[in-house]
Amino acid sequence: MAKASSQLHCSFCGRSRDEVKILIAGQDGHICENCVEHAQEIIEQELNTKQETAVNSAQNFKLNVRRPAEIKKFLDEYVIGQDEAKKVLSVAVYNHYKRVNIKPQQNDDVEIEKSNIIMVGETGTGKTLLAKTIARLLNVPFAIVDATVFTEAGYVGEDVESMLTRLLQNCNYDVTAAERGIVYVDELDKIARKGDNPSITRDVSGEGVQQGLLKMLEGTEVLVPPQGGRKHPEQKMIKVDTKNILFICGGAFDGIDKVIARRVNTNAIGFSVNKEEQEHQRKNLLQFINAQDLKSFGLIPELLGRLPVITYLNPLDKETLRNILTEPKNSLIKQFTRLFELEGIELKIDDEVLDFMVIKALEYKLGARGLRSICESILTDAMFELPGTGAKDLHITVDYAEQMFGKSKLSILKVA
Ligand code: ADP
Repeated sequence: MAKASSQLHCSFCGRSRDEVKILIAGQDGHICENCVEHAQEIIEQELNTKQETAVNSAQNFKLNVRRPAEIKKFLDEYVIGQDEAKKVLSVAVYNHYKRVNIKPQQNDDVEIEKSNIIMVGETGTGKTLLAKTIARLLNVPFAIVDATVFTEAGYVGEDVESMLTRLLQNCNYDVTAAERGIVYVDELDKIARKGDNPSITRDVSGEGVQQGLLKMLEGTEVLVPPQGGRKHPEQKMIKVDTKNILFICGGAFDGIDKVIARRVNTNAIGFSVNKEEQEHQRKNLLQFINAQDLKSFGLIPELLGRLPVITYLNPLDKETLRNILTEPKNSLIKQFTRLFELEGIELKIDDEVLDFMVIKALEYKLGARGLRSICESILTDAMFELPGTGAKDLHITVDYAEQMFGKSKLSILKVA
């Protein structure tokens, strides 16, 4: 028997037939004109946000893959020297993104593996800068994480998954973009197994963390806590597939030159080259680094298997430091010149001042990172005093530089 019209009501808002203008009948219920309107608004909102996210993702992170030679050329504009590392990185990155772009049907029997990378080189030689610059060129999300903060699950510290939280945060939680981003894992050497090192008797967490990294580096679906921290049951997780994320790891691996020297028969190095060249090669043993050395240093073979590309960075010599000051597209000197220019002041720095800065960076063992503090120690007074005085130029001589540097806190930090 049909229900009396007064008993009919909207199944969504509960209003009765008398309270609404129209009541549309469905199979098991009714909907009123107000709820139809409301539903329409919700649909529009949802579709818009979805489209916006897709458009934003496509626009913000439109992958820009270049040929290896072009990648290297771009790196040359920002990073001085390190030619070998640049070449190896360019090829590895090119191959990685070529693999990412393979359509499923093209993907026949030959499965191209990921080209995750290890860079070995003293601190401050440009490892992070290289990774960051590549990510910028390719226009992919990028995160820097420190391997030392990770601990095995269950211990105080961060889970390895938190590196993906960082990546997601850096691209505004655009999962599609994050899934082909780059993660730079710094201080990989600090999670080396200590077993081979007799001076340390207990391996606190190194090997456990290495184990934790394996799946992530290879490619797996990881549930990531959006705000980081430890996972807990009530937290909403974001699923991230790491199959196409490129991991670049870096570390100083202090003392690895001795491991290399032991492996490479030192006498064989530079066979048939002159004495000078032999000496040079002996000093630059890193160029002979391979997975076996890293294993002897304490990286587990499974981890090395997932980081197939190994390269090295040279220590920065005087000439390189000097070039770092002026050559890169956004070199320190260019940046300070621009800062003064914005005040209407032309900055002129004598060549001897640049040499002075390099000598101090070497003398105080500050490396390239220290060049900025040295520049600042010399220019801060002028940057403080000159704005608003109407000065049109500033000439920095070596006497002035010495005087300013002598006054700065840096000058008391000299290491023996
Ligand atoms: P690492 O990761 O090897 O410890 P970074 O890449 O963080 O070193 O380098 C620290 C800073 O020193 C960089 O931000 C950059 O300003 C400068 N720098 C180091 N090496 C180079 C280089 N080869 N070319 C240009 N700048 C460099």
